[in-house]
Amino acid sequence: MTTKNQTPVRVRFAPSPTGRTHLGSGRTALYNYLLARQTGGQFILRIEDTDQKRYVEGAEEELMQGLRWLGMDWDEGPDVGGDYGPYRQTERRELYAKYARELIENRHAYYCFCTAKDEGQEDVKKRQQHRDICPSRDADIAEASQKVAGGAAHVIRYKMPKEGSITVEDALRGEITVENATLDDYILVKSDGLPVYHLAVVVDDHLMGITHAIRTSEWLPTFPLHGHIYAALGWEQPTWIHPSIFLKPDGKGKMSKRDSEALMEAGKPIFLSDFGKMGYLPEAVVNWAALIGWSYDDKTEEFTLDELIEKFSVEKLSPSPAALNFTKLDHFNGVYIRAISSDDLAERIKPFFEEAGCAVSDSEKLLRVATLLQVRLKNLTEAPAMGGFFFKEDVFPEAESLIGKKMDAESALVLAREIEKLVADLPDFSMDSANQPFRVLAAKMDTKVGNVFGFLRDSLTAQKVSPPIFDTMEIIGREKVLERIRKGIELLEAV
Ligand code: GLU
Repeated sequence: MTTKNQTPVRVRFAPSPTGRTHLGSGRTALYNYLLARQTGGQFILRIEDTDQKRYVEGAEEELMQGLRWLGMDWDEGPDVGGDYGPYRQTERRELYAKYARELIENRHAYYCFCTAKDEGQEDVKKRQQHRDICPSRDADIAEASQKVAGGAAHVIRYKMPKEGSITVEDALRGEITVENATLDDYILVKSDGLPVYHLAVVVDDHLMGITHAIRTSEWLPTFPLHGHIYAALGWEQPTWIHPSIFLKPDGKGKMSKRDSEALMEAGKPIFLSDFGKMGYLPEAVVNWAALIGWSYDDKTEEFTLDELIEKFSVEKLSPSPAALNFTKLDHFNGVYIRAISSDDLAERIKPFFEEAGCAVSDSEKLLRVATLLQVRLKNLTEAPAMGGFFFKEDVFPEAESLIGKKMDAESALVLAREIEKLVADLPDFSMDSANQPFRVLAAKMDTKVGNVFGFLRDSLTAQKVSPPIFDTMEIIGREKVLERIRKGIELLEAV
């Protein structure tokens, strides 16, 4: 397919269905996807659902929709199957049990009966102390196994060496060496028999033949543990790549749940399923997300998904955190609104018009409106405010707005009646043939041409800003134009 990395990779996106899918997850998926498509390899979707307490119904569907909306597809996954399934971790329970058992037999893990509490409820200090006090740590395996078979509550812990160190390697940061004394006896299998992420990720990446794993830097602290488990099972590790996390738009720290909510309230989406509703094009979101933490060179900024597939490279991912810049997203949105075909834009703005109560069944008209709005829109949600009047039976201007500068209701009425006559007689509404007669009329009435166009704009659109007036009149059609002008005249008569 392309030049850079000719060896086909096997990569995975491995989300936990614990809530709505964040832009950060979308970006992680995207980087993995790009690498797979660039090398002609496989992109795998694996659902990491072993934390049943945090499981959220519907999250899996939402995340698949979000990925598809961005333009990604996957070669293997819970919905499409594949040779390395199942692709949901809760359906792979026996596999983890098998390798947990192997770790126990190799004395790299142990059954622990003194606590049936699951990881997360324990703090680090307690875990570190644990390895010094746990009576089960060096217990006889046969005895411990018997206890387990007898139904004793237990967890399985990794038996972290108390001395020495471990070195793991991240493609963006190089080698990372950590003293084992600073690590601890992590729980690998919880009291409910399900593995924690640390064991499941190692087993799955190995069994699924993952060659490269791109996941965010929040996994760096437990990366050494993963290195330990790989070594204990005698497996080769994939190439690890940990792009940085996002920072808040002000650059001050990691985004919390509350920050995400505050952004949403300010009209800035952060969950994948909100971008479309909030008027953003997937093309813009993909381009924007790719550049948060990756760059091609110091000048090129616009990349379609296909261009990203061609140009993406792991070497140019940044290990330092980047702040979200929504101004940039708006910029890209405008770029792609202009880049797509008018037909395509018409399809995409249709639901926004419909939601605003506009009847947009006339697809020819919708296309003409789309063409007109294309150069003006920055966001699809702006379409009804800019062009809703095209599809409404009536518009409702304020009488005041129909009165031009330095005019009163009476003179505005005289002018309006003249405009009506002129419009009725015009051969057509094009800029070329209608512009001059309106100017002549303004001169004749001793008023500014702006007042002529102002009356037209307000009576036809009831908006202060609208697309160019001749194009507008052409789309509305003479009959409707005259009807709205007459309504304007009635409004002025009633002042
Ligand atoms: N389930 C983990 C998460 O959602 C995946 C981390 C990884 O990609 O290894 O963050």
